Amino acid sequence: MTAELIDGKAFAAALRGRIATAVAALRAEHGITPGLAVVLVGEDPASSVYVRSKGKATVEVGMEGFQHRLSAEAPQEELLALIARLNDDPAVNGILVQLPLPRHMDEAAVINAIAPEKDVDGFTVLNAGRLATGQKAMVPCTPLGCLMLLRDRLGSLAGKDALVIGRSNIVGKPMAQLLLADSATVTVAHSRTRDLPDLCRRADIVVAAVGRARFVQGDWIKPGATVIDVGINRTGDGLVGDVDFDAVREVAGAITPVPGGVGPMTIACLLANTLTATARANGLPEPEGLTP
Ligand code: NDP
Repeated sequence: MTAELIDGKAFAAALRGRIATAVAALRAEHGITPGLAVVLVGEDPASSVYVRSKGKATVEVGMEGFQHRLSAEAPQEELLALIARLNDDPAVNGILVQLPLPRHMDEAAVINAIAPEKDVDGFTVLNAGRLATGQKAMVPCTPLGCLMLLRDRLGSLAGKDALVIGRSNIVGKPMAQLLLADSATVTVAHSRTRDLPDLCRRADIVVAAVGRARFVQGDWIKPGATVIDVGINRTGDGLVGDVDFDAVREVAGAITPVPGGVGPMTIACLLANTLTATARANGLPEPEGLTP
């Protein structure tokens, strides 16, 4: 059996198209242009690339992009003052502070300074708490993108055995919450988990967010399972995921490739969250299919 490829790139392109249409309607009917502010502190090359591609994607769907750059030595107070200004700026509907921050900054304090209704990354404790308690939240972009791909492939996730490998605040934990909210039976694995291959063999859905190249093996996979590979690992052979793609695709029913799977969904979901935040800020109906 060779798994079907889950084409995240095509799904994300269609999603961005729907967002662009909704943005155009928002402008035509209400004179509103959604605005996304992206803040970069320091010169980290990977972060600079991410910020540039987020800015480009923002403009492509007709939103306003605001980029703010601070030096790596900027005091935390300067960043907090900038966030306070963006919180108060009605032209800004979404605020994203690119991580990681320089070591002298308190990441949690900075993130939690973002107004929850503009927290389009969904990383503030308020949004994490809302997600965990089943309230309307801003949901982290990467797991939201994974959920969209899973629902598109499987329809209802109710009763499915789902294994999330990884328990980070940005991927693993919110992914588990989203799957649970969709009534999957969820197991979360991490570096101290025993018998990971056995757990994996029982799963109808595997989401790998480990940060280790080709970690998930072909003989760990239940035949026909759906495998979502969140990993982005730079190796001598280029970008690879957390799943041993060539081996797993011989067993799984469907799998996301790397690149071209989850990655494009993350940026599309950032735009989706910005549009949702704009609708909520203006008391307008939220466009359908952009939230869980
Ligand atoms: P983190 O490093 O924060 O978390 C990795 C998780 O994997 C931890 O919970 C860790 O466990 C677990 N882990 C590590 N080793 C093992 C092991 N041997 N067995 C089982 N679990 C293990 O990573 P992120 O969640 O931030 O990212 C995960 C991956 O996803 C990375 O490759 C990252 O680049 C990628 N990523 C991709 C995105 C996209 O847009 N496609 C967006 C965000 C991330 P423990 O908690 O015990 O340490």
